[in-house]
Amino acid sequence: AGTGKFFVGGNWKCNGTRDSITKLVADLNDAKLETDVDIVVAPPYIYIDQVKQSLTDRIEISAQNSWIGKGGAFTGEISAEQLVDIGCKWVILGHSERRHVIGEDDQFIGKKAAYALSQNLKVIACIGEKLEEREAGKTFDVCFQQMKAFADSISNWMDVVIAYEPVWAIGTGKVATPQQAQEVHLAVRDWLKKNVSAEVASSTRIIYGGSVNGNNCSELAKQEDIDGFLVGGASLKGPEFAIIVNSVT
Ligand code: PEP
Repeated sequence: AGTGKFFVGGNWKCNGTRDSITKLVADLNDAKLETDVDIVVAPPYIYIDQVKQSLTDRIEISAQNSWIGKGGAFTGEISAEQLVDIGCKWVILGHSERRHVIGEDDQFIGKKAAYALSQNLKVIACIGEKLEEREAGKTFDVCFQQMKAFADSISNWMDVVIAYEPVWAIGTGKVATPQQAQEVHLAVRDWLKKNVSAEVASSTRIIYGGSVNGNNCSELAKQEDIDGFLVGGASLKGPEFAIIVNSVT
């Protein structure tokens, strides 16, 4: 891990019922969690209030998306103001499923980030290449282009965590090797240094996501530029999520 405070986020995606979430929250409330870690979970919108009412304050709550601007006539959307109103502190933006399944583009995501930050929501800004892009040697190009769209919109990086999530590793069980992840984290940090500032490069946490679990987290956490994790599948199991939180080195 790097010098920033270790950060572990759980992205529950479109999973759960009232009952399963009651059980997951109880497991998280019972878990022994290292103190020196920022912990965030992102339930589906409709369960955020239930989680907020029942989860320990030790864990902050994130949304998985937010609207690009002020609320109004945008059927089906949820605004940053509404998320703040119900006690959300964070929002995940640019997740690969929103980019590649829903079709959100770099600029749209960058603008969402700027708006969320303007409403005092902190942002987990996701980037990452697809398998064919990696195989074509374009990993850095793709990540830097996604970073540029965020950087064009963001002026205050204090409330931003970057999540490097190679698309080929998300939900596939194919985790990046510690070396593969470290190589990209270092390149992204270097990009921040050249394109934003040395201070932002050293203070911004860059977390890894993509098939992280209780078995592979420790080796990844040892890498110098891996400041934590964004966890999908394994975040639906309280005890395993706790192991990942506690992998802080
Ligand atoms: C994610 O969706 O952010 C993710 C990393 O998923 P998984 O851990 O299931 O690969």
